[in-house]
Amino acid sequence: MRKEIMGVSFDDLTLEEAIRRGAELAAGPGFSYVVTPNPEIVNLARQAPDYEEILNGAGLVLPDGIGVVYAAKLLGRPLQGRVPGIDFAAGLLAKLEESGGRLFLLGAKPGVAEQAAENLKKIHPKLILCGTNDGYFQDSAPVVEKIKASNADVVFVCLGAPKQERWMAQYGPATGAHLMVGLGGVLDVYAGNVKRAPAAWQKLGLEWLYRLVHQPSRLGRMAKLPLFLVDAMKESRREGKP
Ligand code: UDP
Repeated sequence: MRKEIMGVSFDDLTLEEAIRRGAELAAGPGFSYVVTPNPEIVNLARQAPDYEEILNGAGLVLPDGIGVVYAAKLLGRPLQGRVPGIDFAAGLLAKLEESGGRLFLLGAKPGVAEQAAENLKKIHPKLILCGTNDGYFQDSAPVVEKIKASNADVVFVCLGAPKQERWMAQYGPATGAHLMVGLGGVLDVYAGNVKRAPAAWQKLGLEWLYRLVHQPSRLGRMAKLPLFLVDAMKESRREGKP
């Protein structure tokens, strides 16, 4: 069942359920894509109806960020919890290693996806990494061809929002892949360029604070978070919630 939070309809799944569903989609015959909106992405969608449509058209819409979970609570449509994109990706990697599914890594600065692939091979020796491409291309057609030629089942698309969601919806079907997952800065984490918050911070829902301390340039982006919750409160009043 999906729950609508400020215009975006989220799947109300646990991490395990989301991973299982992702693996099914990856093994299925069609094409679908996964989006992991945080409050910043939901805000972008509220200003751009076509982008909102792209998010709602995803095969899986996962709440990446404690802000979305709080907003859901304020709106009286609580979600089971956060499903961070990076955790979903980790689960999917394990499933792909088991099933022999083929993975392509797209995005980040030149060299990062290759380094990410090297590091992933150490953790998942049986994983089939069938190709990489950086995220700073001008023309999408050769990238589509490269993915097609690689016979990828799954593509991690790490171009940042909203570019990655728009790219998956527009070009995904032509690549022949079965599943694309929009994952922001995840390749930088795999490559070892950006560190993820320690588990204790993650459990407390403070991953955003950890990232802020290490990348203070994110402050402008994050300052909008409290406003998102204020908007959720206003929306909840409009809907007649206590
Ligand atoms: N990026 C890219 N192509 C672009 C713009 C960005 O490949 O045209 C990459 C960028 O190098 C980074 C990722 O997209 O690896 C976005 O990271 P960010 O931390 O902004 O994403 P978040 O995880 O916050 O969504």
